[in-house]
Amino acid sequence: MKVIRVYGFGNPEVMKYENVAELSPKAGQVLVRIMAAGVNPVEAYIRSGAYARKPELPYTPGSDAAGIVEAIGEGVTLFKQGDRVYTAGSISGTYAETALCAEVKIHRLPEAVSFKQGAALGVPYGTAYRALFQRAMAQPAETVLVHGGSGGVGLAAIQLAAAAGCTVIATGGSDRGRALIAAQGAAFALDHTSPGYLEKVKEITGGRGVDVVLEMLANVNLAADLGVLAKHGRIVVIGSRGKVEIDPREAMGRDAAILGMTLFNATEADLKVIHAALGAGLANGILKPVVGKEYSLQDAALAHTAIMEKGAYGKIVLAP
Ligand code: NAP
Repeated sequence: MKVIRVYGFGNPEVMKYENVAELSPKAGQVLVRIMAAGVNPVEAYIRSGAYARKPELPYTPGSDAAGIVEAIGEGVTLFKQGDRVYTAGSISGTYAETALCAEVKIHRLPEAVSFKQGAALGVPYGTAYRALFQRAMAQPAETVLVHGGSGGVGLAAIQLAAAAGCTVIATGGSDRGRALIAAQGAAFALDHTSPGYLEKVKEITGGRGVDVVLEMLANVNLAADLGVLAKHGRIVVIGSRGKVEIDPREAMGRDAAILGMTLFNATEADLKVIHAALGAGLANGILKPVVGKEYSLQDAALAHTAIMEKGAYGKIVLAP
């Protein structure tokens, strides 16, 4: 079968398209035939060698995918051959034609959700759900600023927050991205490249500020986020690509909380809650992942270049 293999950390071209032996599931494992795999920024950080968590070399990147169960290992009871599933974690890596996953890391994909949409679920929707409801404890009637709403996590957060009865303000860096943000449930779409755009957050909230900020680029925005936060507001740092200086008094005066998060810290019990909620949202049609760009598996390097570029528009997927 065809896979992407990384033998040494570095630029996107270290990802090699290769033929390897077929996989077979051990006890508790499921072999999934992959119809589409999700590309997440973290996979580009890991491949570059700049990320704290490094896999043993060589490895196949990827944790998110959707496809069909091809075979099950001993003791697997929840799935059978032919089931439509999405993955949220993989033992062998999902940039491949098939992937081995632990039974607990795969979930049912409703018929109405395409495989490409299914590849957009694991990390982005898992992160958005955890940030909103397990870290910020967002409540109906609260106002949520999704700071970076046009990408995989941002759009998931907009759909989830709007469905929960929150008022959503979201930002995007392109006209196209902002149109998408508005179409996905944000009441207000702001341009994070426009000077003074956060003044509009104060206007929209009548000077009160927002209850929750989901922050995709904390090294750029964290100090300013504190300035648009309501009393008792919570900021969840989802993404950051460097350091930042803040004025702690902005947090003190508001009894504000700055909450870090990484999906890697979610427990099995947390993940059970997350995927039960996502499954319900997919089944009733509230959650509709948006796929903006597709590449073939052998063009994984192009997908890794694209995921680091501006002008996000939903999810980037690989289709073997
Ligand atoms: P993505 O699809 O590439 O989207 C990136 C988003 O950041 C886009 O909406 C982009 O908007 C926006 N952005 C760019 N410049 C910005 C700015 N100055 N202010 C605010 N937003 C800005 O990536 P993703 O999958 O949504 O992930 C978003 C971030 O969260 C990444 O840094 C990723 O590594 C991180 N992440 C963390 C976790 C975790 O567990 N903590 C999990 C998943 C992702 P435009 O392109 O429209 O400018």
